[in-house]
Amino acid sequence: MPQSYLDKIDWQDPDDPIRRQAVPSPLELESLPGERPDPIGDAAHSPVPRLTHRYPTRALLYPTYVCSMYCRHCFRKESINDEAAGFSMAALEPALAYLAEHTELREVILTGGDPLTLSDVQLEALRSRLDAIEHLSLLRVHTRVPVTLPTRVTPGLVAALRGDGSRMVCVVTHFNHPRELDDDALTACRRLREAGFMLLNQSVLLRGVNDEVEVLAELFEKLVYRAGAKPYYLHHCDLTRGVSHFRTSIDRGRELMAALRGRISGLCLPEYVLDLPGGDGKVPIGPSFVHARDGQRWCFSTWAGGLHHYEEQLRP
Ligand SMILES: *Cc1c(COP(=O)(O)O)cnc(C)c1O
Ligand code: SF4
Repeated sequence: MPQSYLDKIDWQDPDDPIRRQAVPSPLELESLPGERPDPIGDAAHSPVPRLTHRYPTRALLYPTYVCSMYCRHCFRKESINDEAAGFSMAALEPALAYLAEHTELREVILTGGDPLTLSDVQLEALRSRLDAIEHLSLLRVHTRVPVTLPTRVTPGLVAALRGDGSRMVCVVTHFNHPRELDDDALTACRRLREAGFMLLNQSVLLRGVNDEVEVLAELFEKLVYRAGAKPYYLHHCDLTRGVSHFRTSIDRGRELMAALRGRISGLCLPEYVLDLPGGDGKVPIGPSFVHARDGQRWCFSTWAGGLHHYEEQLRP
């Protein structure tokens, strides 16, 4: 794990939120009956090695299963950290052929592992192979490197992702706590935005790390106002084996999201989602603001906790 990430830990505090994400806990040895080695069915929807295709228009490509740190809450913790699972173009050939054949695809999502652990030369080589597949309109990169090793986001790395600039690039980071957004991380985010990349963030709701309104409000505001990254998803903690100490109830997540609505800008609010076990995809599980309904008469809960009766006006 990078020293710079370890340095964010307050070692005087046994409950430090950075420490919880970084340092193994004996609680990880406990697993609940419904927890699974492959919680969201990545393998069940993998037609060729190193690729998951679940939705019609986008597919996941795993250039490597190596990360810059091993997050204790990781939902892929049983498929990463295999020494034989680093980058090689040969390992990706079947997946590249699949992407080229499937003309319905619009987005390729580089994930892993962490794609930004590749060298500039490797990234450049992979990007130019993807550039040759014309039906892919957007290159998406899911990465925790801007969080865990932000100094790796160099001009050379940005240039390797950008290529000639003709294809849209979207980088999705994974900040979970406002303290992760230090000056180096902000510099990394600015660099990605200055290259013209769309910048989003996904967080995982983690008990003891960020399951408080104040912490989430600060995280989401800092992402937008300091890093220029739009909070995209807040993930409910998956049914990964050995992470039950991180898992909140869905009720708690909905309560937190309801408390944030109206209080922070809509730009700062992510969608709260659950990735269904087995591979049925993501479902939004945020609070409902429909209190009651009778035909065209609706009763909505307002952000401030009141009720508002509304009647639809439609042409007969
Ligand atoms: C989450 C996920 C995606 C991306 O879904 P979006 O809703 O487009 O962000 C794509 N493929 C798989 C297999 C996923 O798990
Ligand atoms: S960087 Fe992502 S894939 Fe890697 S251990 Fe952390 S959560 Fe898992």
